[in-house]
Amino acid sequence: MVHDKSANVQPVDLPEHCTVLVGGAGISGICLAAQMVKQGIKDFLVLEQSSDVGGTWLDNTYPGCGCDVPSMLYSFSFALNRGWTRKYAPQAEILQYFKNCIERFSLKQHIHFGVSIASAHWDDLLKRWLITTATGAQISCDYFVTAVGQLSRPSIPSIAGIETFDGPLFHSARWEPDFDPQGKTIGVVGNGASAVQIVPELSKKANSVKIFQRSPNWILHRHDHRYGSIWQFVNRYMPFAARFQRLMMYLFFEARILCYNRRSILNKGFTAWSRYRMKKKAPHALANDLIPSFPAGCKRVLLSNNYLECLHHENVELITEPIGQITEAGISTASREIPLDAIVMSTGFETNRFLFPIEVVGKHGACLSERWSRRPKTYLGMLTPGFPNFCMLYGPNTNLGHNSIIFMVECQVQYFLKCIKATKQLDADCFEVTDEATNDFDDQLQHYLQKKVWNGYAASWYKNKDGDITNNWCRSTLAYMWQTRRVKKNALRFSSRPCTTVADPTPIVC
Ligand code: NAP
Repeated sequence: MVHDKSANVQPVDLPEHCTVLVGGAGISGICLAAQMVKQGIKDFLVLEQSSDVGGTWLDNTYPGCGCDVPSMLYSFSFALNRGWTRKYAPQAEILQYFKNCIERFSLKQHIHFGVSIASAHWDDLLKRWLITTATGAQISCDYFVTAVGQLSRPSIPSIAGIETFDGPLFHSARWEPDFDPQGKTIGVVGNGASAVQIVPELSKKANSVKIFQRSPNWILHRHDHRYGSIWQFVNRYMPFAARFQRLMMYLFFEARILCYNRRSILNKGFTAWSRYRMKKKAPHALANDLIPSFPAGCKRVLLSNNYLECLHHENVELITEPIGQITEAGISTASREIPLDAIVMSTGFETNRFLFPIEVVGKHGACLSERWSRRPKTYLGMLTPGFPNFCMLYGPNTNLGHNSIIFMVECQVQYFLKCIKATKQLDADCFEVTDEATNDFDDQLQHYLQKKVWNGYAASWYKNKDGDITNNWCRSTLAYMWQTRRVKKNALRFSSRPCTTVADPTPIVC
């Protein structure tokens, strides 16, 4: 059901050592690689388990796939895409943008495809990481950076009888390219961000679409439109206009964080307004099933210009009775059996086991997954004590519900590169965040998270099973930029190799 993404790739031999090793060639990996090239760091490698770049935009190819963040905010500030054709670009256009970045910064020579990282072990004597791949190949590096995303491992719930279904059954992020919905009765399990994009497209061709909704979501209108030729001309040839437009959009989306404060007037207003909008659009008979009773923003607010509309169609049915089991012929609930030709599991991702299945082992044999068995504790969502020269991009508590993740990733990349620079300036070999800085950051993070609307009310992928918010950043992105603007030297501990038995690694030019 979930295919091996690297199945068709022939891994090539890895060198013995590199200065920076990056795991993942999605948005964050590409951003870091491009910045390293721009800053003159040449000795780096990116290991990517798939056969191409793009991460989530490579994986998700389902019909209707696109972004619910405006395209103007969805390119790097140092490689602005001024050629978007729509306000909300579709998946193929976004993927092409990231592929263009690979060309523009000549990154291909640095990337090894079809290589999954199995483990990373810190050698405290050599002050290096030893990386082992799934095929047993090894490579050492001075700095190890994970850029594996939060939404890369599809989650397929273990519904009774799932293996007995006698038809195509696949996850939304592993779309069967040959699947033809024409004339079929298709079950879609889930009604999250992916499902609201898939269902309207399937309903155009399928005989019938049955949506299995476990709990409702707030769904607002996505004001999408094609950019006309004048608009495209202005964006393409008047860089100032494109930058200005981007800034305005950024500020507008940034202001939305104010609506995410729990029990605030703004959140109440946001909820009331969302209810009013949904009532206007949803089929009257389904309003009670579709409109959540929890405040807006608890779960990701979905943007769609055709999901609620398509629920008016005769061939689309919303089923809210819990799934009992999957049978050979379809899905059964307590009161009925629904025969299906195919099932799409639009059931989200495993979001709380960060970096899994990579085993990261730091100083004194400390295993990161064991240390984080309750919840992750980091500094800025990037560094963690006991794991020197190690950085996570889009790690714990750095996801957003209100603005573009690309902004966060750029802040992180700059911060990591400043850490390397500080290490070199001090003539040291490694940096490590202190316990004090991590505890202070975590106290502050938890304090702000308490006030956020994700806390309480509804289960979501932002939280672990104990209710800790492990995925989301707690404040504005401007606040994050402020905190990552410079390396506070008292937050880091720097050290050098105790012996000189190892040949000096290639020096970094920062
Ligand atoms: P999701 O939002 O986590 O939705 C998963 C859905 O599956 C939910 O409706 C969930 O119900 C349901 N579900 C899970 N287990 C189930 C079970 N055992 N039985 C019945 N229903 C079950 O996942 P997603 O739609 O793939 O989106 C994940 C994230 O990816 C989004 O929040 C967003 O950040 C990102 N995304 C972004 C875009 C974009 O446009 N930028 C598009 C797609 C995805 P409950 O709600 O009751 O848990």
